[in-house]
Amino acid sequence: MTSEGTTSEGTTGEPGLELPWGWIAALDQGIRDDSYGLGHFQAPRQGYKHSGIDFLMPVGTTLLSPCAGSYLAGYDGGYGNWVQVICKVPPSIAGDQAIFASMLYAHLNATAVPITGIDPNKAGKVSQGQTLGTAGKSGNAGAAGIHAHLHFEVALHSSELAGLQEAHISGADGDNAAAMALRASIKAACLEPTGFAPTKATLNIGRRIDPFIFLTCLSAEKPPLTTPQIQALHSWSADYTAETFDVDVGLP
Ligand SMILES: [Zn+2]
Repeated sequence: MTSEGTTSEGTTGEPGLELPWGWIAALDQGIRDDSYGLGHFQAPRQGYKHSGIDFLMPVGTTLLSPCAGSYLAGYDGGYGNWVQVICKVPPSIAGDQAIFASMLYAHLNATAVPITGIDPNKAGKVSQGQTLGTAGKSGNAGAAGIHAHLHFEVALHSSELAGLQEAHISGADGDNAAAMALRASIKAACLEPTGFAPTKATLNIGRRIDPFIFLTCLSAEKPPLTTPQIQALHSWSADYTAETFDVDVGLP
């Protein structure tokens, strides 16, 4: 950078937050809300707090990788068909720190990437926007009264390998230095400038960060919020607030 030459300012005069990632699905119908449980971050579960968000969506909704990174994919009785994507968190909210996000997609109807199992040595690569599979009701989401949804959660780590080793076990919520560092930097880069905050929960459970806040601070590509057929809309604005943008729309 030099002090002379053309300006690096945007044409609006507002630098804004760089939003380099994509969104995680092809549609947005807010949060699952049914008789089996609520889908918001930190919703009560038996013996622990819900460590992700249940993004309500019909069976078959296309799921996307928000970033280029590594992945694992498999099946277990609880999460059903699952895909785990590990990406380095961009400088726009991580600064120059090496912080990696392990993002779990669970209860998929079908996976669209080769199955690897949980061995980090078998990890594959995904590109930003790549289709990972489709949303569904596999694993312990199969009961008729459970609305189809994507269980999505984000755990932070200091290396890609540590991210690949993250098992996303509910209730195993220990904190770590990378997660603490990311919370400080996302507050300074995104939350404080916009007044963006959760109204009914805290930003994190240990190393798990609120997935909606994390994604919103990284992506301008959230699909429009639409009303679901299966339940009343549980909008983002019911659980989050911001001063400079509409949380149901996302950062511009
Ligand atoms: Zn869930």
